[in-house]
Order: sequence, then structure tokens, then C-alpha cells
Amino acid sequence: MIISVASGKGGTGKTTVALALAVYLAQKEIPLGIFDCDVEEPNVNLFLQSEIKVIETVYVPVPYIHESACNGCGACADICAFSALVMVKGKPLLFPEMCHACGGCMLVCPEKAITYERKEIGIVEEGYRDHIRYVGGKLRISEPISPPLIEAVKKHLGDSDINILDVPPGTSCPVIEAVKGSDYIILVTEPTPFGLYDLKLAVEMVREIRRYQRLLGKSSRSLYGVSCGVVINRCDIGDSQVSDYCQREGITVIASIPDSRELAERYSHGDFVDYFIEQYPDQLESIISHIPVSLSQGEISS
Ligand code: SF4
Ligand code: SF4
Repeated sequence: MIISVASGKGGTGKTTVALALAVYLAQKEIPLGIFDCDVEEPNVNLFLQSEIKVIETVYVPVPYIHESACNGCGACADICAFSALVMVKGKPLLFPEMCHACGGCMLVCPEKAITYERKEIGIVEEGYRDHIRYVGGKLRISEPISPPLIEAVKKHLGDSDINILDVPPGTSCPVIEAVKGSDYIILVTEPTPFGLYDLKLAVEMVREIRRYQRLLGKSSRSLYGVSCGVVINRCDIGDSQVSDYCQREGITVIASIPDSRELAERYSHGDFVDYFIEQYPDQLESIISHIPVSLSQGEISS
């Protein structure tokens, strides 16, 4: 089962909820994995401190143009939807950072002048702590395209375990790559106008994914068809617009977590997880009670 923890914007407490949930479930001896898909700013293992056992380098293919074979027809630049290939003075010029490795240019080249070479984009590391398996991606500095690395992280998802994904913030391509195939998405927000605005975008994203999953039917990796619930972090600041919106849209608020200076201070020192579990067991139980669980994977219960 795949549970994604996402948020329309950064700084809402997404990693806090993902990690607290993972450690809380692990304390019940439920086998699980936590996957850091926020590969541009991975921080799960800063808090988890799992012992890294495996590090794998991830590469993507990028075109290599053999100038001697090129006739300057421009077909490769015409097909490139990402403007990674442009024609300059009758010659193709490649911007490898913009290449999405779709393979289109190689297919259309009439002279077979394009082959592929591999480019390193980052690493995937795997470690263990108690009952938790950790897998996380780290994107290379200056590398702008993260979805292939997120895909590499997700190749390590366990088929039978609970898989908790810490998703990048926002609603752009890396987020879609991370949440697609999820069974349940926890949307973490805060009760402010910014929180509401980004929550609306995130809810629309979930609805689009659900429509897509229905189209895919059984070919989707998801077992259940994705559903979502909202966690309101720092629920006692701001106003009631987020909860009003959730009520209007029929979206369940699965937990509300009060603002806590102590929690923020502990977070900044890297040791918030145990404190969170100690302070907010009701919220964690409430989150768990709203997540559908496959019988074959064992019921999650308190
Ligand atoms: S592989 Fe695709 S994205 Fe990359 S340069 Fe070729 S056509 Fe463009
Ligand atoms: S499609 Fe092939 S032959 Fe035409 S410009 Fe591109 S590399 Fe050169």
C-alpha cells in the first residue's frame, strides 16, 4: 500500500507528518518503508538516521549528435517538445539539462546521427532503522529535472509493505511523478490564505489523478484508486477557511495538529519525532483510522 504525504506548498509540516506516522507504525511492528521523493531537498534521513547500506548512482540517457553524419535537416529540433534541441546556423545544438530523454530525436533522425550517452543525475540510498526501511533520492546540484530520480526511488517500493512517501511540495511534474500510483494521499496544509490556495491546487491534482486512474483501470499500480484526507497543521493559527473549504468539498480533515514552539525547536535540532508521537497520538490514530488498508497486508489498528 502506498501512502503519499504531500502539500501544495513547502513548510507546512509534510515531512513531520510522514516521519511521525512511519515511526509510530513501526513501533507497532508493522513492516514499512519510508521513501524520500523530495529529491531536491531530501531531509527524511537527517531525522531518521537510518544506517545506509546501499548507494546506487542514477543515470538518464541524453542524445549525442555525431556531427559528421548530420545533414542539418532539423527534424530532431522540430520533434523536441522541450526545446532541448534547437538549430543554430544549420546545426543541431543540444541543451542537455532540458532533455527529458524521450528518444524522439533519435527516432526521427534520417541519418542515424543521434545515439545516446548516459548522464548522472543523482543517487538513491537505502538504509534501515528498527522496523523501518528507508529509501531516498538525492538530486545532483544544478540538475533541473527530478522525475527520473523519483522514479528510481519508487522502483524500490515494497509490494506487500506499507510504503510512506514524502512527496516534493507543490503540484508540478515531480509531485505527479511521486504521487501517481498512490492508494491514499495525505494533504498537509495550514489554516492561512496561502495554505488554502495551495490546498485547492493539491485537491485538484488528486482529482485529476483519480480521473486518470479510472481511465487506466487495472493497469494502475494503485490497489484502491486514490483518495485523500487533509491534515491541518498549526490548526490554532489563522482562520477557519481551510476547514470550511474541506467541508464544502466533502474532504475529510483527518487530523488537526496545534501550533507548538517546542515541536518547532525540536525539529530544528533534528529530534522531533519521539516528541510528536508522545504529544499527538490521537492525531496519529485518527490519520491511521482514515487510511484504507488491504486485508492481505494486515489491518492497521491501535
Ligand atoms: S530525447 Fe527527447 S527531450 Fe531529449 S533532446 Fe531528444 S527529443 Fe528532446
Ligand atoms: S535529425 Fe539527424 S540529420 Fe537531421 S539535424 Fe538532427 S541530427 Fe542532423
